[in-house]
Amino acid sequence: MEAAKTVAIAGNPNVGKSTLFNTLTGMHQHTGNWAGKTVANAHGCCRTQNHTCTLVDIPGTYSLLAHSAEEEIARDFLCTGKADAVIVVCDATCLERNLNLTLQILKINPNVILCVNLMDEAEKKGISVNFSVLSDSLGIPAVGICARKKKSVKNLLHTLDTVLSSTPTDLTSFYTASLIPHNQEADSSMDAGADKVAEIEITDVNNLIKTAESIAAKAVTFHNPYYREKDIRLDKFLTSRLTGYPVMILLLAVIFWLTISFSNYPSTLLSNLFNRLEDGLSAALFYIGIPLWLHNLLVLGAYRVLSWVVAVMLPPMAIFFPLFTLLEDMGYLPRIAYNLDHCFKGCHACGKQALTMCMGFGCNAAGVVGCRIIDSPRERLIAVLTNSLVPCNGRFPLLITLSVMFFTGAATGILQSAASALLLTGFILLGVGMTFLASRLLSVTVLKGLPSSFVLELPPYRRPQPCRILLRSLLDRTLFVLGRAALVAAPAGIIIWLAANITVSGSTLLALCAGFLEPFARLMGLDGVILIAFILGIPANEIVLPIILMAYLSTGSLVEMKSLTSLHALLAANGWTPVTALCTMLFSLLHWPCATTLMTIKKETGSLKWTLAAFLLPTLFGCVICILVNGIGSLLSCI
Ligand code: GDP
Repeated sequence: MEAAKTVAIAGNPNVGKSTLFNTLTGMHQHTGNWAGKTVANAHGCCRTQNHTCTLVDIPGTYSLLAHSAEEEIARDFLCTGKADAVIVVCDATCLERNLNLTLQILKINPNVILCVNLMDEAEKKGISVNFSVLSDSLGIPAVGICARKKKSVKNLLHTLDTVLSSTPTDLTSFYTASLIPHNQEADSSMDAGADKVAEIEITDVNNLIKTAESIAAKAVTFHNPYYREKDIRLDKFLTSRLTGYPVMILLLAVIFWLTISFSNYPSTLLSNLFNRLEDGLSAALFYIGIPLWLHNLLVLGAYRVLSWVVAVMLPPMAIFFPLFTLLEDMGYLPRIAYNLDHCFKGCHACGKQALTMCMGFGCNAAGVVGCRIIDSPRERLIAVLTNSLVPCNGRFPLLITLSVMFFTGAATGILQSAASALLLTGFILLGVGMTFLASRLLSVTVLKGLPSSFVLELPPYRRPQPCRILLRSLLDRTLFVLGRAALVAAPAGIIIWLAANITVSGSTLLALCAGFLEPFARLMGLDGVILIAFILGIPANEIVLPIILMAYLSTGSLVEMKSLTSLHALLAANGWTPVTALCTMLFSLLHWPCATTLMTIKKETGSLKWTLAAFLLPTLFGCVICILVNGIGSLLSCI
């Protein structure tokens, strides 16, 4: 059997490489309308008529003269001759910029297919592309596609099959010798690949840019010269000094408001359903004759907490994540980076940190890996160390639930949900503020230096795909977070239950541990149980609240968890006040990163010292702020 051919998917950032990769392989690589989200190679399998191919989705790069870590990954892959063919994806709406990379890649690999993506967007903007002109000028096959649509990539697969079936010598006939001085065969040795990059010198690059522009000028026709007007007007509104910040904060608040207002009803429905199921489950367990303690462990401990996790966490996540993804898909994220650029500059950090911070809202581990888009090692380290100061997926449910439970009441009325939304927005802004503060502190102490400049591409606004967004954010984010919560909560629940039931000299283990932590926890406005929950929650942040509940439930105060009100009653019975809730929320925002993030930081920095710093930095912030808030709370209650 013929060995699988390796085919690289290359191109500038944000031209649809990952979308094409997903369409061809049926996989689900992260896609989004901004430059820099693919920072490592992804592999997948696809078949053409005569070949099996290993497709490699490599990070986007503007040039083979790489600047940043992820661009180096792309360059190294392309230059070491690992690819039997390269599909260079270009954006039909800005070919003049994209073709430069195509010409550079052609210098080191003749088996190139030019794949002009986003033809649907081009059509809408009145841009037409002449493929025979492109193909003749470059001497390679050129096809137009719409990567989101499976049907439209058929022609590309056919072309790929032809290219893979040709020998490299056949393909050199595509090469236009006058265009690119080509005197070497494709070489598979690493050294030769690296040498070839060295051939592309700066003067050469300037020539290639001119060549790219002249080819694009011949091949592309703009039927509507004002096609960018709408984008420009929208950009003025979303990124101007006057409106940029208010719109950003308003959008965030609206997302939270929608999340809170619409999640109450499904939450109640789900908890009613789980309560009914609980009766059946109890009856069934007694019927098979299990002992009372095991019934209590399984039903009153594990089942109740797990059903709580699903009933309370699922609806808000199912609303919040798609809304956030919608903004990402439309192209708003880079505008946030643009708006925040001068704040980060003021902290002597890199403006691109705004992007990695936004990734942190999804998952801090992903945010840390995303820091590869920052070129300067000093600024990259600042971004890595401060990433967990913004809440990830796993921490939102705790923030949302506690804010509704303690500060704004069950969010049935518009006013209550608006107040909750504002409170949450305040928390996010606090996280962002802490990021600035920590970045500034680091850049004037251990990571001294001046901010570097960078080029940030503001992508065109694109129409998002609501169905795909809903499906992907439900499967990739919501169910992932829920699954992790349920998986990790179950063993943690058993530990808690055992700790609450094994007695040592008259006290339960849980009471002993909680008692040990109690004085310090009290100082921070928490209690021993809450602090234990944060410690046991190191594997995954989403289990902190379930552990707290499990610990309270296992100590005997069994409460029917029909709604948030009864949950509130359970917490109040264990001494919670609004100050406890506020400090728990603050500590959830500002404490050590989860185990996955810590491991990722260790991998990315290669240093235990920096991993420890990433652990200590948010934790210290959290302790100090909680102590302050608790102190102010106690003072106010005395007045
Ligand atoms: P990459 O950075 O090159 O991997 O780009 P992605 O695959 O993440 O795509 C960037 C954005 O363009 C995403 O929002 C995609 O949904 C969108 N996109 C990709 N291909 C198409 C297409 O053919 N048509 C339209 N309208 N949007 C597309």
